[in-house]
Amino acid sequence: MYTLSTLPGDDVRQIMWRFSDRFDLQMVVQSARQIARGTVATLVAEGARHTHEWTEHKAQLLEAFDQSGLTSLFMDPHQGGFIEGPKNLALALVAFELSWVDGGSATCSLASNLALAPIHEKGTREQRDFYMHRATPPQPGEDREIWRGAFALTEPLPYVGVDTGVLVGKVRVDEWKDGAEPMLHVEKRGRFITNMDFAHFVTAAVDSADERIQGSCMITLQADDPGSFDRGAPTLKMCHQLSSTRDPIITVKVPASRIIGGYEIKDGVIVPKYSHSEIIGAVFHRTRIPVGLMTTAKLLSAVEPVIRYQRSRFRGGDASGPGSPKFEMGLQQKEDAQQRLVDIWAMGEAGASLGFGAARMADAFDPVEKRKEALLEEQGCTGPRKQMAALKKKQAETLEYVDLLFADPADKAANQARLDELEADTLVRFSYLDAVLGVTIPATKVWNTGSGANTLREAISLMGGYGITEDCPGFLMYKWADSQLEATYEGPEAVQRMHLTVTMGNPVFLAVLGKWADKLDASDRPGAAALDAAIRAWLWAYEFLDAAKDAEGKKLLHRKRQGVTFPLADALCWLVAAASLFDDVDALIENGPMNPTVAEGLEGLVGFYTDLAFVQAARAAGEAGRILAELVYGYGAQADTSAFAALRAEIDANLAGARLAKDRAGEALTQVMIPEALDYPM
Ligand SMILES: Cc1cc2nc3c(=O)[nH]c(=O)nc-3n(C[C@H](O)[C@H](O)[C@H](O)COP(=O)(O)OP(=O)(O)OC[C@H]3O[C@@H](n4cnc5c(N)ncnc54)[C@H](O)[C@@H]3O)c2cc1C
Repeated sequence: MYTLSTLPGDDVRQIMWRFSDRFDLQMVVQSARQIARGTVATLVAEGARHTHEWTEHKAQLLEAFDQSGLTSLFMDPHQGGFIEGPKNLALALVAFELSWVDGGSATCSLASNLALAPIHEKGTREQRDFYMHRATPPQPGEDREIWRGAFALTEPLPYVGVDTGVLVGKVRVDEWKDGAEPMLHVEKRGRFITNMDFAHFVTAAVDSADERIQGSCMITLQADDPGSFDRGAPTLKMCHQLSSTRDPIITVKVPASRIIGGYEIKDGVIVPKYSHSEIIGAVFHRTRIPVGLMTTAKLLSAVEPVIRYQRSRFRGGDASGPGSPKFEMGLQQKEDAQQRLVDIWAMGEAGASLGFGAARMADAFDPVEKRKEALLEEQGCTGPRKQMAALKKKQAETLEYVDLLFADPADKAANQARLDELEADTLVRFSYLDAVLGVTIPATKVWNTGSGANTLREAISLMGGYGITEDCPGFLMYKWADSQLEATYEGPEAVQRMHLTVTMGNPVFLAVLGKWADKLDASDRPGAAALDAAIRAWLWAYEFLDAAKDAEGKKLLHRKRQGVTFPLADALCWLVAAASLFDDVDALIENGPMNPTVAEGLEGLVGFYTDLAFVQAARAAGEAGRILAELVYGYGAQADTSAFAALRAEIDANLAGARLAKDRAGEALTQVMIPEALDYPM
């Protein structure tokens, strides 16, 4: 039996989430943590959440973000930022740190970036430099206000945001003088728009209401534009009160150069380079990762306060004195109290592994995506359809790339030249990363927030009556309420599942998933075999459902059959999250010995994490098995399902020892040292 001596510190996290060599990111984490455990915790403790209005008290947050560098984190150095290159991991770490204390403060920090994201992803160079520069704090010698932005997609009922194909916001030509730039009239009513109390500009999705403008676009609207920029009524929120939300009503006149990405004039018609949905796709591809990690941070943040509560539960009474087990261990004498906390911890770890893995991959993806855009444009291959056709032609090579990428070392070495060649092929590399991220990003959003919210309820229950009071250590009750919003915005769960319905069947992703199963199969780590069998059962069920028909002879695996595809997506999320945790524990085992601080307690740490990964693998395999059985038998009573039955039996048999792992992890929680005081004040 091992001993977990302390809770995992920064050194451990840096190894598992792979930023040990990124001093810049470590500094960002420290800045965000200082704000979270200082300004943010104080605001919450002082009751700033008790009003949905944006107040001067809350505005201290903006000042803290500006002073600590978080406001300019999104920008490149030439725009006033301090990190060169992609920043998905950096933003994910900031969201994680702030949400450790309060999710609303994380949203407040990220919302301006969300407004800038359409400009960053698809804007012209002039648009990027203009807005990015204004959104950074003034440099020495500069005298200007910092511009904050809001992102306005969602509109008043019945067209609120999810079905992004429907827009009520309209753009028409206001004035178009010969040889001059067209002036546009924009009307946009937003609903639930974050940052609206103090936004200087809004990036708004609008549809054409004029035959001289083609389709939809995103466009920037400024508070000082001629017309009316009414910030609207505040949203009567019951969560995330440390961010500002209002329903704006904007009617302004703007030059056509505000269309994000620019436009062409074809036969007297203004043709925006990008439709609003193309831009939104690119934006949400990235920004959904930090949102998912917000709920995850709260799960992991619950561990320490719950241990503290459990241990001190019976102190001060007559029944026990110092040195007695009841005094020293309190509720941790009870197996259930220990083991439910193990479940919460394991869920949090798996969510973090999934989300930070997606963030790292998104960082690798960003430059490849830009190269792909440039390459296809050079080839005259513009527009989503043509691009899709060009990428489809690369599928065979991408599958070959996946084969080589996951080959055993000897095969890899023998085929290194070919692997290098394929890796250097922009379209192949793009197709691979896009296929994996197409699943892991919506999985992070839907699983971390949805399953995370359910698990947060468990964390609160471990605090007993204290849990539902404002005094609950760790603000857990607030965190639970907040998690529902994290599951809702940037597309609620149904939207993420719709996304997964399309991406999980990508042959490249299916091939990668098979390789993950092979890797687990080759591993001798406890729990790996159960997860391997569960992934194979998922792949089997996918193929089975793809071929099967319902009672009326209609296709089952179809985007209209949400009763089939949504549960299948949910099962996949459990598996992918658990597999990600195995991957991070591998990194700890491999790289832990190189770090002197981590090496000291590594045996206990690895023992504990190995058990935690097994606990999560057992849970994930169980959840997936249950869902898959319902689908396979539920739709396939007459079919030959013996192969599936064999796989299910394999999953169950491979759970051997799972409960012993949970026993050990629970026991470890009774011994772990925790700091003297909470990591942030009440
Ligand atoms: C505090 C707050 C801040 C926000 N900030 C912003 C912001 O800054 N900018 C912005 O643009 N938006 C913002 N939003 C809006 C947010 O993105 C949307 O509320 C969210 O995407 C959910 O959309 P909805 O409210 O339209 O829900 P609905 O579309 O009404 O969805 C409700 C439920 O219906 C079901 N459903 C919906 N569509 C489908 C479908 N096709 N198939 C099956 N089931 C379906 C799902 O179960 C879903 O959960 C914010 C919202 C809140 C509450």
